[in-house]
Amino acid sequence: MEEVFEKVDEMEEDMKDSLMKMIRISAIGPENDGEGEKERAEFILELIDDFGFDSVERYDAEDDRVPSGIRPNIVATKEGETDKNLVIVSHMDIVPEGDLEEWDTDPFDPVFEDGKIYGRGAEDNGQALISSIYAVKALTELGVKPEYNMKIVMVSDEETGSQYGVGHLLEEGVIKKDDMVVVPDHSEDEGKKIEIVEKAGLWVKIIVQGKQGHAAFPDQNINANRVIARYQNLVDEELHHEFQQEDELFSPPQSTFEPTKRLANVPNVNSIPGKEVQYFDCRVLPSIDLERVKATFQNATKQIEEETDAEIDIEFSKESEAPERTPEDSDVVQNLKKAIEEVTGVEAGLAGIGGGTVAKGFRRRDIPTAVWCSNKGLAHQPNEYAVLDYMVKDCKVFARFALGE
Ligand SMILES: [Zn+2]
Repeated sequence: MEEVFEKVDEMEEDMKDSLMKMIRISAIGPENDGEGEKERAEFILELIDDFGFDSVERYDAEDDRVPSGIRPNIVATKEGETDKNLVIVSHMDIVPEGDLEEWDTDPFDPVFEDGKIYGRGAEDNGQALISSIYAVKALTELGVKPEYNMKIVMVSDEETGSQYGVGHLLEEGVIKKDDMVVVPDHSEDEGKKIEIVEKAGLWVKIIVQGKQGHAAFPDQNINANRVIARYQNLVDEELHHEFQQEDELFSPPQSTFEPTKRLANVPNVNSIPGKEVQYFDCRVLPSIDLERVKATFQNATKQIEEETDAEIDIEFSKESEAPERTPEDSDVVQNLKKAIEEVTGVEAGLAGIGGGTVAKGFRRRDIPTAVWCSNKGLAHQPNEYAVLDYMVKDCKVFARFALGE
């Protein structure tokens, strides 16, 4: 085991270089006006060519919204001594950089400083992708055959719904019930906890129709901006009043109901906006019925419509009930715990999250899935970075896991 850990330490510089090269190749989905993941997938395929995988399969999903027409998914397998599969699922796609003013460096020209690699997608999910493939490389270079088949899965479309990524792979039957799935795409407590359960999710779109007009004559118009403000205050209060339950496995332990995106209204200051569109992102504890949450939005709609002359429509989307939690005594959780303890000395605890990883799709199909990696939780933020030490450490954990008893 010491040899494996030493081997991984030796590869530190290569891992760093690979991540930095990958960051230079953008991989943004069409929903975010990107051209998809094809170029990045080709980079990865070339990179792992001599890593010692026994097979590399591609499961491209067709998508005519991207220039290449495909959303690539890679399944690279190193065979083990047994039939059991350790499946490590990371994603190739990234989110856009956001406001460039907020970045101290170019998000697509990575910078290494103080042991950190800065760039968009460095942590989400580049770090884990690199650590998973190098775990295979380390064993190959030592001529060690793992106990479990190592299936390194790298998907598209994680950031915008997973239909062309994990969804496509599940349709194709690539990942099965007795597989042990690790999704290194979220970190609790910088790797000291393993996530086994998630909240349910719901997006709500509220459309307020008022009457646009000159700002000097509010009495002749219906200010949709004022109406949406009232609506937000009301529904915010109601939701937080009605759903106060807590579950300590989660952080935060309560359900969350956040007003997020607002569409632009009028372009000028002296017009009263006649229409407002506001979104809410809800993450709800598994014990709460989503129908009750929807009813709270509907009741607020009724009340505000009665109090104002505006018309309000609401639309629900991305509704997803929370799946059954992955059992604590499942092989994947137990093996992962053992590997983490051996590499870091930490006895990992268990946790739940607010949703948002592909684990949900696996758990729905009763595939035991552990979400784990070590990171700082900088996903989607400006000045996102990956900690090189964490990338090396997680690589050791994956290698250790694959070696079995
Ligand atoms: Zn991610």
